Amino acid sequence: MGSIGSNLQEVRRRIESTCAASGRDANSVTLLAVSKTFEAAAVREAFAAGARAFGENYVQEALAKVEALADLRAHLRWHLIGPLQSNKTRPVAEAFDWVHTVDRLKIAERLAAQRPAGLPPLDICLQVNVDGEASKSGVAPAELPALAEAVAALPRHRLRLRGLMSIPEPTSDAQAQRRQHRRLRELFEALRAGGLALDTLSMGMSADLEAAIAEGSTLVRVGSAIFGTRS
Ligand SMILES: *Cc1c(COP(=O)(O)O)cnc(C)c1O
Repeated sequence: MGSIGSNLQEVRRRIESTCAASGRDANSVTLLAVSKTFEAAAVREAFAAGARAFGENYVQEALAKVEALADLRAHLRWHLIGPLQSNKTRPVAEAFDWVHTVDRLKIAERLAAQRPAGLPPLDICLQVNVDGEASKSGVAPAELPALAEAVAALPRHRLRLRGLMSIPEPTSDAQAQRRQHRRLRELFEALRAGGLALDTLSMGMSADLEAAIAEGSTLVRVGSAIFGTRS
């Protein structure tokens, strides 16, 4: 692994070449730098190298980083990409810009009610369990349309439904990666065809961002390829 700056450059190169190969504009893919388990100093280094959106999994750890980086707050976006319990929604509604892991209406209702009036709406993705494994979080594909309609009906000055997110089973088989991502894209397109104004498909990580972009991802969540291996 190189420095955070050179790693970022390499990830951007991967995004650009995949976009070029798929006939997509490189600006149509947002890079989310996943900084979970890394210190605020690492986030600061990535920020200096141009990263502007950061993903965190654990609420307490994230809140400490948001505070440590308060001087940068106006210039970056914090995304929660880890599981969210209903008793933790208030600090999340107050501190984050995005939540990718909403998988039931109760969580969305609490976030909407708790979003401070002075802030822009909280941007939301619904997490979908594309593999259908009972042990995994995320809404089942069959229940997605009803959940999406209900979340989209919440007050839009508090909460904006932007799209879908998934964490597929890890596999090194590129064709299997594409199939998993295609599944989410088809669900996304069906919701759009049904009239929901969604613009965000949050899929792809360090190991499968090429497959995700080829299948239409608009936001890749990249941790280890930028910050190194997590201990
Ligand atoms: C940790 C994490 C990532 C980043 O994974 P890498 O393989 O390190 O790129 C992306 N998305 C979610 C939901 C994660 O928890």
